[in-house]
Amino acid sequence: MLPVGIAPGGDDNDDVTLFWSVRVTEMKAVRARGLGPLKANILDIWPELAPLLESLTSFDQFSDATYRDVVMPGLRRERILFLGDCAHGMSPQLGMGANLALADAATLAGALVHASSLDAAIALFEQTRKRTLSLYSFVSRWLTPFYQGDTIAVGWLRDLTFGPACAFPPTRRAMLTMLSGTQRDWFARFPIAGDGLPDLPLV
Ligand SMILES: Cc1cc2nc3c(=O)[nH]c(=O)nc-3n(C[C@H](O)[C@H](O)[C@H](O)COP(=O)(O)OP(=O)(O)OC[C@H]3O[C@@H](n4cnc5c(N)ncnc54)[C@H](O)[C@@H]3O)c2cc1C
Repeated sequence: MLPVGIAPGGDDNDDVTLFWSVRVTEMKAVRARGLGPLKANILDIWPELAPLLESLTSFDQFSDATYRDVVMPGLRRERILFLGDCAHGMSPQLGMGANLALADAATLAGALVHASSLDAAIALFEQTRKRTLSLYSFVSRWLTPFYQGDTIAVGWLRDLTFGPACAFPPTRRAMLTMLSGTQRDWFARFPIAGDGLPDLPLV
């Protein structure tokens, strides 16, 4: 359940978005069973959601979203440069896909200004983004079984460790820098500019 603020043109109430994961092969069956069993399943896990689930009246309120893990040896193939999800689509555990796509675009724009030729700009872009993208892809891939897997022991491990990790200052800080998109690679963070945004190289 994710707070998403006030919808454009909506009332003044804060909105939330409900995410619910099912295997792609089970999507049709979940719809066929109807909203009742789905709501019961959700409330079993989180009973306090009952008042919010009252506004859920139809499966049309859901959008089906599927994803895949995209791994490419490089971001360039002949005359084509790949940015965003088509270059590094990943599972949505970190919620960083849109941010990474925007940072790709901003970095490419910067590289085009700084480099003396198109080839040099693309090389500079690849070199600049490589470490950040490989970190986020790696972490997203390794987090997926903790959130969307069938292995019960992994679920227990998540429940035992992730809560305390959120409260323990060093791991809390590491998680926040990751989730705010300000981790540059395994060892360094992007500096934060005066406007509070990460100072991307070349931008
Ligand atoms: C369930 C879920 C939750 C997510 N939550 C978050 C989140 O909280 N925060 C976050 O930052 N990211 C989140 N993401 C990821 C985010 O949505 C994507 O990473 C982001 O949209 C990628 O942007 P993009 O421009 O690379 O690709 P897209 O947004 O997919 O844009 C590609 C566009 O190209 C169009 N297109 C495709 N083929 C063609 C064609 N042949 N000709 C013309 N047009 C074409 C498509 O219609 C689409 O409009 C989530 C993803 C999922 C699935």
